[in-house]
Amino acid sequence: MQNVTIIGSGCAGLTAAIYAARADLKPLVLEGHEPGGQLSLTTHVENFPGFPEGIMGPELIENMRKQAMRFGAELKAGTVTEVDVRERPFKVVAGKDVYETRALIVAAGASARLLGLKGEKELIGRGLSTCATCDGYFFRTKPIAVVGGGDSAMEEATFLSKHASRVYVIHRREEFRASKIMIDRAMANPKVEFVTPYVVKQILAPEGLVTGVLLENMKTGEAKELKLDGVFVAIGHDPNSIIFRGKLDMDENGYLIAQNGSHTKVPGVFIAGDVQDHRYRQAVTAAGSGCMAALDAEKFLAEHKD
Ligand code: NAP
Repeated sequence: MQNVTIIGSGCAGLTAAIYAARADLKPLVLEGHEPGGQLSLTTHVENFPGFPEGIMGPELIENMRKQAMRFGAELKAGTVTEVDVRERPFKVVAGKDVYETRALIVAAGASARLLGLKGEKELIGRGLSTCATCDGYFFRTKPIAVVGGGDSAMEEATFLSKHASRVYVIHRREEFRASKIMIDRAMANPKVEFVTPYVVKQILAPEGLVTGVLLENMKTGEAKELKLDGVFVAIGHDPNSIIFRGKLDMDENGYLIAQNGSHTKVPGVFIAGDVQDHRYRQAVTAAGSGCMAALDAEKFLAEHKD
């Protein structure tokens, strides 16, 4: 029987583990399909407080893992395939392993959608990014593109125009899913140029670093090449919440809904990080919410000794 089981090993899950371990709860962390979460897919992290020179994403995560284990957290590989939160103790199934737990912290994160192009994943951190706030700074005075036509794409294009010399917004349709105010803002920006209706057929990176994209016009079939130093894919995120469908409250996009801090409608189940946050999505906010979930779980366990 576990006191606290934490689903997810990104910034939120590991921060929850550090706090729960220091409360002597010996938390179990089930690492999930992307151990370390989105930070493990990034390069330099320059906005996490406490690292004036910045730190590599994977190193920051490794430090958090070590810190959690030093206080007695147990980390296990495994993707959770099923949960039963109808009664306590809750049941958590990860492959062949079944765990019983008095409290549960869901920090399963969200995965940035990628375009599905060959070699795309390998280019993350080598000119390809899914996070403008994280990586925009590396493209100072360089031409870049944002792919997508939703609010994220507009927001990222506007944000990135502060750094980049030129920002192309590549979108597959001539209509945009984004809200009018966000489109107007991006369109009014002299550094932003819209390239529609185009799809990215290939990300060019002859030496392993992005040098451009090959596009195809969706109406005419015309091919076009853009020379770029960076490509930001902003076609949405998918919260890793499928196993909680019908069990915890979620919005129409599948993001879990927190109430009163990290609580959910099920007493003893707490949520943290990007699985419940489509707004801020930062390492530091995920860490903060992981801390909140651990403190809430600790209080819950103190009040429910059964
Ligand atoms: P989104 O609204 O789902 O938009 C995704 C965009 O990516 C769409 O334009 C879509 O094209 C395009 N797309 C999807 N798959 C693609 C593919 N394989 N290839 C090329 N393009 C593809 O996602 P989001 O922009 O991340 O926004 C998610 C939610 O967060 C929304 O509710 C949004 O309003 C909200 N949000 C709000 C703010 C804000 O208010 N400040 C900022 C960011 C996000 P199609 O349109 O052709 O399908």
